[in-house]
Amino acid sequence: MAQEQVVQEKKAKPLVPFLRIPDKWPDEPAYLFGSRCQKCGAIFLGERYACGRCGAVGEFDEVRLSDEGEIYVFTVIHQSFPGIETPYIAAIIDLPEGVSVRANVYGLDPNNPGPYWFGKKVRMRAEKIRVDREGNDVIAPKYYVVEE
Ligand SMILES: [Zn+2]
Repeated sequence: MAQEQVVQEKKAKPLVPFLRIPDKWPDEPAYLFGSRCQKCGAIFLGERYACGRCGAVGEFDEVRLSDEGEIYVFTVIHQSFPGIETPYIAAIIDLPEGVSVRANVYGLDPNNPGPYWFGKKVRMRAEKIRVDREGNDVIAPKYYVVEE
């Protein structure tokens, strides 16, 4: 009976597998995590079972990744699925740990892109983007421009 209650409880679910949502969400912020190889120290986004650098298997420590990063490359999306507002900015963000993440960027005008966007500093904020069929909140990482 106790198990049934747990199943019915509304939960916050990450949209991507490399987003960690603390039990105390939203009082505690969600964050991106990676796996650090115990043998060579290489860091990868999300969970990892084998190291792409040294070949070690199953020897990883979870590490919290930085909220801040820089835009490595971007594109402006003008057409998307029905119900998705366009235009929006899709980017690859470089994190200081040497990991890259694909995410949308907010705080820039998608109708006026420019080369000065490359290298722009952004900060991750995890937000509820919708509710799934079971009534769970779906949480996604979004990147906002850091004004310098
Ligand atoms: Zn390794």
